[in-house]
Amino acid sequence: MSEFELIQHYFTARQSPVDAVPLGIGDDCALITVKSGMQLAISTDMLVEGRHFFSGANAQMLGHKSLAVNLSDLAAMGAEPRAFTLALALPAVQGAWLSDFSAGLFELASRHHCQLIGGDTTRGPLNICITVFGEIPQGQALRRDAAIAGDDIWVSGTLGDAKLALTSLLSQVSLSDSDRNQAALRLHMPVPRIALGQALRGIAHAAIDVSDGLIGDLGHILKKSGLGATLWCDALPFGDVLRNQSETMQYEFALAGGDDYELCFTASKANRAAVLAAAQQADTAVTRIGLMESEPGLRYVDAHKMPLEFSLQAFDHFQS
Ligand code: ADP
Ligand code: MG
Repeated sequence: MSEFELIQHYFTARQSPVDAVPLGIGDDCALITVKSGMQLAISTDMLVEGRHFFSGANAQMLGHKSLAVNLSDLAAMGAEPRAFTLALALPAVQGAWLSDFSAGLFELASRHHCQLIGGDTTRGPLNICITVFGEIPQGQALRRDAAIAGDDIWVSGTLGDAKLALTSLLSQVSLSDSDRNQAALRLHMPVPRIALGQALRGIAHAAIDVSDGLIGDLGHILKKSGLGATLWCDALPFGDVLRNQSETMQYEFALAGGDDYELCFTASKANRAAVLAAAQQADTAVTRIGLMESEPGLRYVDAHKMPLEFSLQAFDHFQS
């Protein structure tokens, strides 16, 4: 199969045309029509074999996750997905792998009406790089620099089960089969909080998606907004499987685990009811976990408001 037959068979043929994309795969560039008054939100994420996923990883789940982690960035800005490009390095053309990968990819893409509009395909160590394009009304993006002292800090869903699944895959913790499978879904099949991100436009101030661990990602909001925060550790929404593990593990994985793909966002106290209504509209649970403060630094307190000490670090590709 030639490079062009591969693109046609596994990627072009699997979707039908949409109005917002007058020219998709097959020319030198794709064309996207942006409605007036809207801005494009653009983000890229790369998944490298042996770094972001184990070699031999399930291809369908990999197709899902490659797009999901990108859509999660759109969610964190409050953007609506429109289109994406796919740059793919493959060691060889394996039909079964490509079928499964594109099935996982397009299942998620079609759910969010996100059109594949181009990419690049080359031979090389397995590497998947996706760029997503989303739309957002001018000036309404949920930026990291927009938090205000006194804002509540919220997080969607639950934290830490993805890290627990990874730890179990590395045989560093032992889980029952059903716990392992449940946690593995959080690691391999993250759900981008697209509906919540859009519902929070005009309600939240700052937002970020939790990909490298809550404290690291919240740290970006603190830094960009020039603020500090206190986290109420007893309020953290631990993952369903993590909830049965030791307290040390719960704190570590929820605060610094990574791969959660939940949204962490700030909103004024006056908007508490509006946040809960947005969460309900998006059918996504949200939990209030702390407070933005003008004093720099991140502080942790327990249920009695007594300070807790952690020496935790967010994930960093060049420091681990
Ligand atoms: P160019 O020579 O301009 O780089 P290519 O020959 O690499 O173009 O690709 C031909 C067309 O197929 C282009 O429209 C490109 O965007 C698209 N394409 C290539 N690889 C992929 C892919 N993995 N998924 C979707 N579209 C792709
Ligand atoms: Mg090319």
